[in-house]
Amino acid sequence: MTSPKEIIKHYGIKPRKKLSQSFLMDQNVIKKIAIAAQISKDDIVVEIGAGIGVLTEILAQESRKIIAVELDKNLVEVLKEKLAGYDNVEIHAGDIMKFDFTSISLSYRCKVKVVGNVPYNISSPLIFHLLSSCSAIGGFILMLQKEVVQRLAARPNNKSYGVPSVLLQMFASVEKIFDVPASCFYPQPKVESAVIRGAFLDKPLMELADAAFFTQLVKASFAQRRKMLINNLKNSKLLADVEEEKIKEILTCASIDGKRRGETLSVVEFGKLSNLLYQTMGKL
Ligand code: SAH
Repeated sequence: MTSPKEIIKHYGIKPRKKLSQSFLMDQNVIKKIAIAAQISKDDIVVEIGAGIGVLTEILAQESRKIIAVELDKNLVEVLKEKLAGYDNVEIHAGDIMKFDFTSISLSYRCKVKVVGNVPYNISSPLIFHLLSSCSAIGGFILMLQKEVVQRLAARPNNKSYGVPSVLLQMFASVEKIFDVPASCFYPQPKVESAVIRGAFLDKPLMELADAAFFTQLVKASFAQRRKMLINNLKNSKLLADVEEEKIKEILTCASIDGKRRGETLSVVEFGKLSNLLYQTMGKL
């Protein structure tokens, strides 16, 4: 395998900041990600932001098929040339945010695996894009900014636990696998990185009466982190029509002490509370 350094030199690639281009140079980290992705010959893989194709090449050797998505037209040409010898690689020139995971999953009749050292400038919308396609996606393994990984994988009572943790973990099991220092990339990002691995659950941790209401309730509960849950709830627009006494009653019904902070509630507790509140509001 040609080294990332040689590829960049050979093609005279000038990394584009606007596209968050930061290429993985450390061969050990590249191999570690590929191993952690646990790809088998049955897997259809979608790689986000394939760049110069270093990860793509390893994954091509292990998977049934890999669809390498890349927005930068210059890099698409590099990928085509570099991976010409693999008949199971498809280069998809385009924006991952417009990528249709569902139609790929339907046409191959299986869930896809998503892998990538992704552009950090689109981390949040990307996670929501994956969430919205979760029935088409089995597992995912992503390199993201370290703080983002911490937030997504945090458990209750941790300072990183917040809206993204709850919203993702209702639908997926996730774990941080390892950190990657900035020195492993070219150009070096200003932030540290980490790799997160996850799998979407066949069904959410608990059945939600209304997913949009759940999202809003979680956001309201964390509106002011240091406030008691009851105060965040009674001040929220979402529950403006519900009397404080009623909110307290529902908290009791859900066995949640309103004096707790939002950050102490488990994902299931948020689900329970959301369902009870939603039902009550329907009756008002
Ligand atoms: N995976 C490569 C490159 C990572 S850098 C490596 O590890 O070396 C992020 C890559 O995502 C870049 O190649 C960049 O061009 C690409 N990219 C940026 N925005 C994108 C988008 N919206 N859709 C698809 N690819 C994108």
